[in-house]
Amino acid sequence: MTSVLRIHGLTVDVGGLRIVDGLDLDLRKGERVALVGESGSGKSMTARALLRLDPSVSVGGSVLFQGKELIGLPEKEVRKVRGSQIAMVFQDPTTALNPLQRIGEQVAEPLRLRGVGRRSAMKQAAEMLDRLGVPRAAERLGAYPHEFSGGMKQRVMLAAALITRPKVLIADEPTTALDVRVQEQVLTLIEQLAAEEGIAVLLITHDLGIVAGFADRVAVMYAGRKVEENSVDAFFAGPSHPYGKGLLASVPRVDRALTERLDTVPGVPAKPSARPAGCAFHPRCAAAIDRCRTDAPVLLTIGTGQAACHLIEEGALRC
Ligand code: SF4
Ligand code: MG
Repeated sequence: MTSVLRIHGLTVDVGGLRIVDGLDLDLRKGERVALVGESGSGKSMTARALLRLDPSVSVGGSVLFQGKELIGLPEKEVRKVRGSQIAMVFQDPTTALNPLQRIGEQVAEPLRLRGVGRRSAMKQAAEMLDRLGVPRAAERLGAYPHEFSGGMKQRVMLAAALITRPKVLIADEPTTALDVRVQEQVLTLIEQLAAEEGIAVLLITHDLGIVAGFADRVAVMYAGRKVEENSVDAFFAGPSHPYGKGLLASVPRVDRALTERLDTVPGVPAKPSARPAGCAFHPRCAAAIDRCRTDAPVLLTIGTGQAACHLIEEGALRC
């Protein structure tokens, strides 16, 4: 199937530091892709760069949206795509919503900005809130954000993001601030709506625990580079890259006692300001060999996916 969003060789530089280094990622219509990694791995910067949210950040490479190059496009042109064609929701609905503006107006605003009349925009806002499971949506258009719970606020954010019927939804840690039960509800809503409308979703998260039930495909970032990509089924059956293996081992499991200490990937994540030579993961990698300290591995095909690890050529990684 054709890509709705094709990212090729994406670079993000902030203050002379390369935060994202040559990322390739494809999103097809209706597909849900999870971009995972520890905090500081460059995943949020990737999301923000795609929408050119930070004018001071320099973005390179190529981002094709439905065949149209977004990199280098004047801000005026980017604005036509951002929000309406490629929408975004963030972690914290409390800061993203305006506390002084009524819910209905905030959800309807993207339509109003596109010239839709007030009555029609409000009607669509009520419909979208209703689809997202906000009870008595039509009656609550006049309510203010503080009258809603965290989970309901995130539904309001989603309604505002989806009301223009975007082709792509970028969701950066959309459920991190919510409790586990509400997390699941919100992710299920995103999944259903995305499926019904053929929206491609890029879910950005540090939490592999929510990826298995949500995404079709997973890409793992480490120190600004993609180190592994595969279908969710293949990844959860057994990641190829030593970092992917470490991440999966650190996922809380329901069969473990809650009090049990969780495994985490040992060591400290590499900072872009001090990216280790060779494979950036080598100081934390129990499987590292000599060349890992000097040569950067490239992504190679392994099984149904890709991984960037010297052990593939050494024949020491199974798929
Ligand atoms: Fe570990 Fe070397 Fe593979 Fe990097 S390239 S993940 S250091 S074995
Ligand atoms: Mg982040």
